[in-house]
Amino acid sequence: MNVENTGGRLFGIGRCSSLSGSPGPDPVVHRTVEAMSQLQEELVVLRERLALHDTDRQATTTQLQNQVENLKEKLISQAQEVSRLRSELGGTDVEKHRDRLMVENEQLRQELRRCEVQLQELRAQPAVPCEGCEHSQESSQLRDKLSQLQLEVAENRGMLSELNLEVQQKTDRLAEVELRLKDCLAEKAQEEERLSRRLRDSHETIASLRAQSPPVKYVIKTVEVESSKTKQALSESQTRNQHLQEQVAMQRQVLKEMEQQLQSSHQQTAQLRAQIAMYEAELERAHGQMLEEMQSLEEDKNRAIEEAFARAQVEMKAVHENLAGVRTNLLTLQPALRTLTNDYNGLKRQVRGFPLLLQEALRSVKAEIGQAIEEVNTNNQELLRKYRRELQLRKKCHNELVRLKGNIRVIARVRPVTKEDGEGPEASNAVTFDPDDDSIIHLLHKGKPVSFELDKVFSPWASQQDVFQEVQALITSCIDGFNVCIFAYGQTGAGKTYTMEGTPDNPGINQRALQLLFSEVQEKACDWQYNITVSAAEIYNEVLRDLLGKEPQEKLEIRLCPDGSGQLYVPGLTEFQVQSVDDINKVFEFGYNNRTTEFTNLNEHSSRSHALLIVTVRGVDCSTGLRTTGKLNLVDLAGSERVGKSGAEGNRLREAQHINRSLSALGDVIAALRSRQGHVPFRNSKLTYLLQDSLSGDSKTLMVVQVSPVEKNTSETLYSLKFAERVRSVELGPGSRRTELGSWSSQEHLEWEPACQTPQPAPRAHSAPGSGTNSRPGSIRRKLQPSGKLRPVPV
Ligand code: ADP
Ligand code: MG
Repeated sequence: MNVENTGGRLFGIGRCSSLSGSPGPDPVVHRTVEAMSQLQEELVVLRERLALHDTDRQATTTQLQNQVENLKEKLISQAQEVSRLRSELGGTDVEKHRDRLMVENEQLRQELRRCEVQLQELRAQPAVPCEGCEHSQESSQLRDKLSQLQLEVAENRGMLSELNLEVQQKTDRLAEVELRLKDCLAEKAQEEERLSRRLRDSHETIASLRAQSPPVKYVIKTVEVESSKTKQALSESQTRNQHLQEQVAMQRQVLKEMEQQLQSSHQQTAQLRAQIAMYEAELERAHGQMLEEMQSLEEDKNRAIEEAFARAQVEMKAVHENLAGVRTNLLTLQPALRTLTNDYNGLKRQVRGFPLLLQEALRSVKAEIGQAIEEVNTNNQELLRKYRRELQLRKKCHNELVRLKGNIRVIARVRPVTKEDGEGPEASNAVTFDPDDDSIIHLLHKGKPVSFELDKVFSPWASQQDVFQEVQALITSCIDGFNVCIFAYGQTGAGKTYTMEGTPDNPGINQRALQLLFSEVQEKACDWQYNITVSAAEIYNEVLRDLLGKEPQEKLEIRLCPDGSGQLYVPGLTEFQVQSVDDINKVFEFGYNNRTTEFTNLNEHSSRSHALLIVTVRGVDCSTGLRTTGKLNLVDLAGSERVGKSGAEGNRLREAQHINRSLSALGDVIAALRSRQGHVPFRNSKLTYLLQDSLSGDSKTLMVVQVSPVEKNTSETLYSLKFAERVRSVELGPGSRRTELGSWSSQEHLEWEPACQTPQPAPRAHSAPGSGTNSRPGSIRRKLQPSGKLRPVPV
């Protein structure tokens, strides 16, 4: 029953495993189930064998029991027969019983042999190994026990064979007894025959005697007397019977012993059965555990399958929904697909013909592009031509503008009253302006108003930017290749350095000019490549020194270029390439440091020397290769005050003479240039000689005349303004210019030389052009023409 159940479950598990089809633990379960099913099968085989053995043993035992029972019954029947024979005194059937017993004995032996053969066959059957199974040990134990049982059975059989032997012996003895019994029976039969004959005779006699009643009793007595011999035989027979009974009793005893042995064998069998039952129970329990485990595994598996199934159902539902959506989309997409397919087919057809079309299109496009390139080239040429023309035009216009404005322009800048001017009437303001005309300045000199007209007048409220805007055009022209000179002229303390250099917070023309140059160059960077360099020099006592050089003390010379171009150059003058305002600041700082280490009183020294910042702008037109070079000279001139008036001597006097000479030379050069004279005396001073290139030709010059507004400086202010106005007035009319220039230049030169030798105090003031001048004795100014048309550079 167990086997059937197990088999059924195994099948169930196997079916579940095959049905599950889910990945993960199933292969393990499957393997386990397979192993278990194999075990089960082996167990079933073992059990079947055991059952077979049991059955055989039972059958054998039963047979033996039956045989014993039969023997018993036979013995009983023999005993009954003996008793019956004893009772009947007859021995004729004993032989038949003996024969029957012998036959039965023979049958028993044959059955016993058959059993032995079966047993041997069973033993000869090999045990099926059960490898890799947890029950194999148990099975081997069972097998051991089985072999033990078989041994016991063999022993029992041995005992049985011994018993059989005994039975044989006893049977042999019985046969002997039977033989004797046979003899006895034969004798008895003979005796019986004889007795029966005699009995018949007796009966006949009795019957005849019965007819005669009294004689019958007698006869009987006779018979009885006559049968003494019979009685003797009977007693013998009874003795024999007695003997036989004893033998039977002995047989019974033997039988009883055999029964006892059989009993013990039964008991052993029962014990063995109990053990087998115990093992079976253990097997059952193990099987039960295994089944439970299998059950739990199956439950787990089922649960997992259910969960997976539920998940799959959910996913399936989602997939179904998606599918429905996709179907709907498909339905809507189908017409679109149809149109797309049509389009695609159409496109395919077009694509087939596309290479030809493409070739044609490429040919035409190439032709068009070639044509376009040619057109563009033509246009470019045209544009380039126009551009060059425009460039020339612009330059022309600029030149014209500058020409109209004048190549040399003069502006005045009045500084505000400062603390240094002090207080009181001396520090009162002596300068006023025309609100309607920014080129007019009024000076109140010794109570008399004097007015001057210049190109532009900047009041004290004008900012650095305002002044710079005025000079901006000049600086831009430098990029176009013009040479430009900007001079700051005026007495010490009038604001020259402030206008040119300014303060770090509020820079002057120098830094603003460079900033403008940088921004302009940046703007034109796509068409032009520019290189900007700066040099800084000073002229002190007619000695040129490099402010950026390593040896500031070294005297520099101005020489003609050896290439025969007539250009001038200064060998050894340091030139720094600058690309940003930072670079400029570094250069200025370097120059300033050079000056401070060189001179103990820098302020005083700087007022006695000309400071030059030379900016060179070299440009290359990227498209045409055209090269331009423009030079911007920013000059902070030495103080123009008349030192002679204070009776200076020695170095101070020498400085004053040099300053006077150089400023005078500057005036001469400007006058010569304005009057377009053939000879311009550039070589008369280091300053003009150095700036020769930048002052001649179509160069542009701006003179910023710095003015102090206070009363105590009106005299110097007057001279500065007269100088400025003269310059401007000379420029306005060629005729007058020539005349004025001639008189001024010659006059100045004439007056200069003696002045150098015997310095005289300059005139204190000049009321107005054309009016008389108060000149101080000993001053070079004193020797000027009183008309005031020409004014010497103050000394
Ligand atoms: P210079 O170089 O002609 O000897 P400075 O430039 O040194 O004269 O000027 C003298 C003083 O006047 C300086 O303190 C300067 O700051 C001041 N100053 C000159 N011009 C102006 C101005 N436009 N605005 C304000 N202060 C000025
Ligand atoms: Mg100065």
